[in-house]
Amino acid sequence: MTDIQRLGIIGAGQMGNGIAHVAAQSGLDVVMLDVKEEALAKALATITKNMDRQVSKATLTEDAKHQALARITTSTDYAAFNTCDMVIEAATEKEELKRAIFKTLVPHLKPEALVASNTSSISITRLAAVTDRPERFIGMHFMNPVPVMKLVEIIRGIATSEDTFQATDTLAKRLGKTTATAEDFPGFIVNRILVPMINEAVYAVYEGVGTVTSIDTGLKLGANHPMGPLELADFIGLDTCLSIMQVLHDGLSDSKYRPCPLLVKYVEAGWYGRKTGRGFYDYTTTPPRPTR
Ligand code: NAD
Repeated sequence: MTDIQRLGIIGAGQMGNGIAHVAAQSGLDVVMLDVKEEALAKALATITKNMDRQVSKATLTEDAKHQALARITTSTDYAAFNTCDMVIEAATEKEELKRAIFKTLVPHLKPEALVASNTSSISITRLAAVTDRPERFIGMHFMNPVPVMKLVEIIRGIATSEDTFQATDTLAKRLGKTTATAEDFPGFIVNRILVPMINEAVYAVYEGVGTVTSIDTGLKLGANHPMGPLELADFIGLDTCLSIMQVLHDGLSDSKYRPCPLLVKYVEAGWYGRKTGRGFYDYTTTPPRPTR
C-alpha cells in the first residue's frame, strides 16, 4: 500500500490551512501551494494562531507546535510537489479552475503519487479524467474547521483503485479522523443533505417566513443543531454553498435543488460570510449582528 509521508496541498484557504495543520501535527511533511503569496503567509499565521490555542488548552506542547510548524513549507511553484507521496487539492470550488490545476500538477508528480480533491460536490470521476492517473485519484472531503471536525468523507471515482482507497483511509485515520465512504454522485453524502437544508433556510428568509435570528434559534433549540443554518452558511462561505447548490441542480436535474435567488444575490454582492466580514451576519461588530 502507498505509504504517505510527504503531503502536498493546493490552496491555502480555510480548508487548505486546516489540512496542513492536522497533517503537520500528525508528523507528515507538508508542502502548501497557493497562487497568492499573501494567502500562504495568512495560512501560516492562522495555523500558528490555532496551534497557540491548542497550547493554551494543553492539548499540544510548545515543543510539538514548533516541530509541526517546521514540517510545513510553502511555494507558488508546482515543482515543489515532485517528492510528494500525495497531493490534496483544496482550491476554490470551481470545476474549470480545478481541472486547470490538475493539468498543471501531474507533470510534476512521481509516477506512484496519489492525488485527492477536497471538493465539496464536483464529480471525482470527471476531475480524475483530466489526470494521467484516474486509478490513483480520489475524493478526500474534510469538514470545516479541519482541526476540530472528526469526519473525512472518502469518495471513490469510477476508476479509483483499492490501493488508493486503502492508503487514503489509512491517512485519514492517521490524521485522527473517522471516515465515511460515499459513492461519486453530486454532493456525496454530507452536502447532498446539508446544503439543501441551508438553501431552504435562505428561502425562509427570502419569503419572509422568519428573521435570521428566528431561523437560527429555531434550528438550534428546536432541532438541537450546534449552529443555525444561516450561521453555518456564513461559516462555510456563501460562494461555496451556492457552488454546491449549482452542482446539485445541474448534476441531478431536479428543480428541488434550485439555488435561492437571495443566496445568488448575496454572492453577487461579494457577501460571502465570515471570510469577507459580511453574510447573513455582519462580523464587524461583536457579537455579529444579523443583517435581516
Ligand atoms: P477559500 O476561499 O478559503 O480558499 C481557496 C484558496 O484557493 C484561496 O487561498 C485561493 O487563493 C486558492 N486558489 C484559487 N485558485 C487557485 C489556483 N489556481 N491554484 C492554487 N490555489 C488557488 O475556500 P475553502 O473554503 O478553503 O474551500 C476550498 C475547497 O474546499 C473547495 O473545493 C470547497 O468546496 C472545499 N470545502 C470547503 C468547505 C468549507 O466549509 N468551506 C468544507 C469542505 C470542503
